[in-house]
Amino acid sequence: MRFSPGLSTSLTGYYLKNALQRRKRFPFVLMLEPTHRCNLACAGCDRIRLYSKEHSADLSLDECLGAVLESGAPVVTVTGGEPLLYGHLKELLAGLIRLKKHIYLCTNGLLSASFVDEYAPHGRLTLNFHVDGLEGTHDRVSGKPGSFEAVMEGLRLAKKRGFRVWTNTSIYRWTDTAEMIDLFSLLKEERVDGILVSPAFGYESVSDDIFLRKEEVAEKFGQLRARLRGLPMTGTPLYFDFLEGKGQMECMPWGSPTRNPFGWKSPCYLITDTYYRSFSELMERTRWEAYGPGRDGRCRDCMVHSGFEPAAMGECFSDPRKMLRMFLWNLG
Ligand code: SF4
Repeated sequence: MRFSPGLSTSLTGYYLKNALQRRKRFPFVLMLEPTHRCNLACAGCDRIRLYSKEHSADLSLDECLGAVLESGAPVVTVTGGEPLLYGHLKELLAGLIRLKKHIYLCTNGLLSASFVDEYAPHGRLTLNFHVDGLEGTHDRVSGKPGSFEAVMEGLRLAKKRGFRVWTNTSIYRWTDTAEMIDLFSLLKEERVDGILVSPAFGYESVSDDIFLRKEEVAEKFGQLRARLRGLPMTGTPLYFDFLEGKGQMECMPWGSPTRNPFGWKSPCYLITDTYYRSFSELMERTRWEAYGPGRDGRCRDCMVHSGFEPAAMGECFSDPRKMLRMFLWNLG
């Protein structure tokens, strides 16, 4: 199965509970960034730019767990920066497991060997390795020769030690789709449990002309999708339809709120108009209706999964046919 039975049950129960309470907006995934520090400086990443400008301190363990309790989201993506640099990572993961959260721990793989030596696998924990292409491409994007070999070694070792392993790939304007198919086939040979692919995040602060326009996303993902059969892709079929330009979807930025050392980021993972001190302030004070394609020029080309996968999930829960499609897809 692409999503474990435990995760599918948690998400369904959580959705039904919120629907019964008639809550209009609620988060599925908390994007938790305990640190902005990183041991790479990838093209296309705005956190490293933020950190070099602001030198933010890491979140404390209490702040991290407080954010998890405040949001109530059943899934927590621990990201950054490079979260393996976070000093309280072990305590944080233990706390998340105690709170019965499903955890996606993102990493660039450079430090994962020592992590998997010191930490035991858990059914609620997935390691999510960022891989942006085969060796030449990945090393160029990450700016560090040898980083592809390091991430591949990291994920092999994690699989060997019994961890559930996903990978995450960003598609840029320069991305060659044939190379991506070769990469995903290689990852399948390495027995990774899931492959996530998404248009690279078009951060405001990254001025380089490297991000895809909407029409280019449809073209690239159309080419890709035709060749993904048999690969353990984890993007939902509704989201892939959307990427291919088949149908519209409303952005739901509240579906994946971000908590980082500056506060609760408003409105979304990509745009920072302000920070709030609490999750309730974020939900109450953000003018959600002002954001999304057609409403804010910065959203024009955005098809990022953190904004639109929650929308895909919402659609599937509200339409039995879409739910059935999702169920069959999840069976693999
Ligand atoms: S469409 Fe949504 S996720 Fe994308 S930039 Fe706009 S508000 Fe953020």
